[in-house]
Amino acid sequence: MHEMGLAAEIIRVVSEEARAAGGAAVSVLRLRVGEWAGVEVESLRFALEAMGEDTLLAGCRVEIETVAPLFRCGECNATYAGDGYFAACAHCGAFGGELVQGDELTVAELEVEEA
Ligand SMILES: [Zn+2]
Repeated sequence: MHEMGLAAEIIRVVSEEARAAGGAAVSVLRLRVGEWAGVEVESLRFALEAMGEDTLLAGCRVEIETVAPLFRCGECNATYAGDGYFAACAHCGAFGGELVQGDELTVAELEVEEA
């Protein structure tokens, strides 16, 4: 389950950020996960809760926002939603837009409790 590895990496990055901010604990962790990130959201949540127990993330609330794929058209520069790389631009009908969101895994927000 590669969500374990992702969770370990998130915990490492978030712990560093929280420490740098002088925090003693992380109370809320908000993530943005693209629908195409290849991440099973509930597995990631479980891994974060299980592996975060002995870290600054112990007991923190994990909020995961999923992000639908969005493309930018190479012809008319419009952005449009699509369910695959072969989805046509909703504005001009061109194919082959560039994915601009939907494959990300980012920490959107962190709430830290001070020591
Ligand atoms: Zn277009």
